[in-house]
Amino acid sequence: MTETRIIDGKAYAAGLRGRVADAARTLASRHGVVPGLVTVLVGADPASQVYVRSKGRAAAEAGFGGDSIVLPETAAEDELLALIARLNADPGVDGILVQLPLPRQISADRVIAAIDPAKDVDGFHPVNVAALWSGGDVAGAGLVPCTPLGCLLLLRDVLGGSGGLAGREAVVIGRSHIVGKPMAGLLIGADCTVTVAHSRTRDLPAVCRRAEILVAAVGRPEMVRGDWLRPGATVIDVGINRVDAPDAAAGGGGRSRLVGDVAFAEAQGIAGAITPVPGGVGPMTIACLMRNTLVAACRRRGLAVPPELLAGGGPASAGGGA
Ligand code: NAP
Repeated sequence: MTETRIIDGKAYAAGLRGRVADAARTLASRHGVVPGLVTVLVGADPASQVYVRSKGRAAAEAGFGGDSIVLPETAAEDELLALIARLNADPGVDGILVQLPLPRQISADRVIAAIDPAKDVDGFHPVNVAALWSGGDVAGAGLVPCTPLGCLLLLRDVLGGSGGLAGREAVVIGRSHIVGKPMAGLLIGADCTVTVAHSRTRDLPAVCRRAEILVAAVGRPEMVRGDWLRPGATVIDVGINRVDAPDAAAGGGGRSRLVGDVAFAEAQGIAGAITPVPGGVGPMTIACLMRNTLVAACRRRGLAVPPELLAGGGPASAGGGA
């Protein structure tokens, strides 16, 4: 029976954030540059408020400047587009992040397309999407979406450098613009043989059993069962699903808890390594947002990006923060 390694995304993310903070200090002392990240929230969705707050906190910890702008739920698309035009023109703003989802009256596609691609730290602008699919590499010219970037960095860490991914069978479940598709692009760039599965895929368990690398980005609690896994597979669980915990009588306290898309307990002894939920991919998303902001700040000014941030850098233990 395989001993399954639990991939500590929290520790890796802390290391990456530390390296970003180190690079920001160097940028400030050598060039007088303080990267600026502006988050824009439309409305008062509680989950979005939590995400925006934690992004703001992480930016402050990294030594970035910036702002957090909130527009009312009723804001018109033109109002948001005018704000984006102002932020695009502001030389002190390096990263613009519009928190999704947006209210119905606003087209997310039009808003994303309006962001200066050089400031698009979410990596969703068509120019950055094209850069990912034509270069396919983290070190390429574009900005890469944060969640799949975080997954790739964890995979490189577990599998021993980018060469460790080459030639592997990778299966991505999910084909969203935010996770599944860019994840597939990054894995192709890392020389994996990639299959993208989705809701119309036939015999998903058999497809998953081929995977040496399995990335689950579905949004269905514990859908991927233990017997869907190839023994020794590296499993990256992107899913964040809130489910009811067993009630108080059963000893669970009756509260809800978070689970991933993979049945974590069943994966033990089969997977070679797996990310937990929470504490796996989630913390990497914010760390990669900080990394993207730093990269944007350097590139916009024609400064060299620290190589450890371009390539992603090593594990948490490789220095730069707790
Ligand atoms: P999404 O846009 O809803 O996409 C879900 C994908 O899963 C779709 O491509 C869908 O297929 C596929 N799917 C749904 N049911 C399926 C089934 N029964 N079998 C196979 N495929 C199925 O979701 P998303 O934005 O990519 O997010 C996915 C999950 O990741 C969610 O739990 C989300 O909360 C989480 N997430 C986490 C982070 C993080 O920081 N950790 C960041 C982003 C998202 P079709 O295309 O055919 O409909």
